[in-house]
Amino acid sequence: MTTPILELKNIHKSFGDNAVLRGISFSMEKKERIVILGPSGSGKSTLLRCINHLESFEEGDVFLRGKRVEENKLHELRMQVGMVFQRFNIFSHMTALENVIEGPLYVKKMNKEEAIAKGELLLDRVGLGDKKHAKPSQLSGGQLQRVAIARALAMDPEILLFDEPTSALDPELVGEVLQVMKSVAEEGMSMVVVTHEMGFAKDVADRVIFMDEGVIVEEGPPDEMFTRPKTERSRNFLSRVL
Ligand code: ADP
Ligand code: MG
Repeated sequence: MTTPILELKNIHKSFGDNAVLRGISFSMEKKERIVILGPSGSGKSTLLRCINHLESFEEGDVFLRGKRVEENKLHELRMQVGMVFQRFNIFSHMTALENVIEGPLYVKKMNKEEAIAKGELLLDRVGLGDKKHAKPSQLSGGQLQRVAIARALAMDPEILLFDEPTSALDPELVGEVLQVMKSVAEEGMSMVVVTHEMGFAKDVADRVIFMDEGVIVEEGPPDEMFTRPKTERSRNFLSRVL
């Protein structure tokens, strides 16, 4: 067994008296693609935010490559774990390319020529080679989300977290973003993806985790989860979304 690239042990998180995560544990191998499913309010976003410590939690630990993440090393963590949000979080006053090179320039202190060359390559890779000087207001939601993915990749993360990256998009723009996510997966990125796109889960996930009310109810390979869910709760949920 190799050391898991990511391991969560018994994460508990409350907002006031609302216990949102109630003992979440799982580990992920390098290059593994995990899809997290679950009803709205089950704690999926909170879980992703706890993984990269955008949110504090009362109990439990996160380990990267077997090393516990320390509160004073969050800078390092954020370089290793990238995140793509439902609402693109693109800086509106900067061009696509400027958004992509921001992290390499100011966080990684890369020199400008190198950052630009890398940024152009990444925008090519997400199919936006001709949009590098476009402002966000000139781009569609699908294009903005692809810029956000390029921006996350620009930091050379070891793990990418996606929080419902297509659920704010018009239906006709969903496919282009899923396609980019698939290509990122095929290139060997370790990914945790919260999504309601069952087709993506079936095609890409090595493992599906079903969450409800702050606990992992069931997990397994997608073909098993989708055809033979073991628990009543996952059967109910899947019958509504499949
Ligand atoms: P999901 O992503 O599965 O829809 P969330 O993680 O967003 O679920 O939310 C889980 C629960 O935590 C919900 O009851 C939500 O109201 C609550 N919650 C999330 N973020 C906050 C916050 N910043 N303050 C208070 N409650 C929150
Ligand atoms: Mg959410």
